[in-house]
Amino acid sequence: MTLGRDDWLDVARKVDWTYRYVSEEEVFPPEMSGRPWLPHDAWQGWNEAYRTTYREYVSNQRAKDDAVLGVRSALSKVHILEGLDPGWLQLVKFHNGALALAEYAGAVAELRMARFGRDSAWRMMATLGALDEIRHTQIPLLLGHDMLRFDGNFDWTHKAYHTNEWMIIAARHLFDDMFLAADAIDLAIQLNLVFETGFSNLQFMAMAAMADRASHHLFEKALASIQTDEARHSQIGHPVLRTLIENGGKDRAQFLVDKMWWRCWRLLIALTGSAMEYLVPVEARTRSFKEFMEEWVIEQFTKNLAEFGLERPWFWDLFLEELDSAHHSFQLGLYAYRTTLWFDVAMPDAEERCWLSEKYPQWDEIFGPFWKRLEEEWATNGEAGTLAYALPAICNLCQLPTLFVRPGKNTACTLMLGGRNYLFCSQPCRWIFEQQKERFTDHRSVVDRIVAGQAPGKLIDLHDWMGLEAPTETGKDLRRGLSPWRLEPVPTA
Ligand code: MN
Ligand code: MN
Repeated sequence: MTLGRDDWLDVARKVDWTYRYVSEEEVFPPEMSGRPWLPHDAWQGWNEAYRTTYREYVSNQRAKDDAVLGVRSALSKVHILEGLDPGWLQLVKFHNGALALAEYAGAVAELRMARFGRDSAWRMMATLGALDEIRHTQIPLLLGHDMLRFDGNFDWTHKAYHTNEWMIIAARHLFDDMFLAADAIDLAIQLNLVFETGFSNLQFMAMAAMADRASHHLFEKALASIQTDEARHSQIGHPVLRTLIENGGKDRAQFLVDKMWWRCWRLLIALTGSAMEYLVPVEARTRSFKEFMEEWVIEQFTKNLAEFGLERPWFWDLFLEELDSAHHSFQLGLYAYRTTLWFDVAMPDAEERCWLSEKYPQWDEIFGPFWKRLEEEWATNGEAGTLAYALPAICNLCQLPTLFVRPGKNTACTLMLGGRNYLFCSQPCRWIFEQQKERFTDHRSVVDRIVAGQAPGKLIDLHDWMGLEAPTETGKDLRRGLSPWRLEPVPTA
């Protein structure tokens, strides 16, 4: 008689045993397995909501890969870019560079839990998670490679994380903190719970909806396919959180949630907010960034918090205020420093400005004059007049320029510590830094390195230091100042 799936799966998931030659603490040292360190008895109720056997995993993943590869081969390579908006292509280049190798780091994180997670069912889920993350690296590397013949900067899909480009330093700083330099418990809360159930919806589901409307069906298919994996392995977070809360770890859990919520928000402003509202063609914008945040992130995540009796992060009001302005301020910074990016940056055209004003009633009043000023610079001093030359102030926690200013409120702040003056873009970044000083004080931002003579001060040399070959790889205005053959009609507001 063959055993049915449900006859053996529970036994196969739960294979922890009692150690006779070593202590449990030697097998799962707190440095790797995490704190609070609890005996296995406390973990044995660890259960994932959706169970998967290895057999099911392999056949599902194979079908998913076939579906993505099917779309890829249905598109003749010669016509790969046909019908794609130029702004959209920059978004894909941005996304690929910022995420392909972060996914690979995600595989390392999952493998850490696959060894040091405290229950065998957790380790099993994490093993499948590691296989997922390898796939999430391979898909963009493959699709990015197909793009190379049309645009050499698609090599940043692979190259970005091997450089000192400032946006990548910010992303690496976050991902190192979130999961490479984290133990299994912190990882499960930070990566699986906060990032994967809270924020990656936005980058993957929302972007997939837009990709569909932007007629980039291969990208849509790839994103949606990746997100189905995330939905499965992100469930690691909940039972870990539950065990922590039941065993005196609630404060620790609240700290990790607050910290990661803010850090993810900061990066997503840069990665998603600006890209969604300045690179996606208007007809493909299904919702605004703010609407996506409200519906997909805030609503779902606050439900999660309530379920576990956790509080909203203490900086909630500031976070809500920023939904209207932070990514718009940041876009101005991206535009002014575009030569330090590997993709082109757009100045909103007349139609986009209408759309922005509709979604953000104060947009025109607050941000309109800045863009008008840049228009005037283009007319009088040309491209050179529209670029920033001074070094931006960079936050010593999130590593992003402190560009989240809006009328009546500059959120930047400082902290004097051990003879060094640290700068932060906001109170929550300073708070995180203060909670984990030993983790963050030694790091130098790009600007700190320039001041200390560890990175070149001249822009041309700085490009080189960041891995950007000027002028071929450095970012430009999406529609202006390009080689004549790339030039499109100049938009006017
Ligand atoms: Mn992934
Ligand atoms: Mn993941």
